[in-house]
Amino acid sequence: MALPKYKTSRANTHSRRANWKATATATVSCPNCGAPALPHVACPSCGSFRGRIYREAIRHPHAK
Ligand SMILES: [Zn+2]
Repeated sequence: MALPKYKTSRANTHSRRANWKATATATVSCPNCGAPALPHVACPSCGSFRGRIYREAIRHPHAK
């Protein structure tokens, strides 16, 4: 197995990690209540999807 000959420099490590960024999660606004929801998933606020209520709304653990 190939082994690195030299220790990766701080600058190389940092410039590589500088390109690693978090991106915001894609959301769609619920046509029933307008709350942001994940696409293709029943709305966490009112539980509706494609014009039907599939289940009771859940309280998101991060929501206040
Ligand atoms: Zn909704």
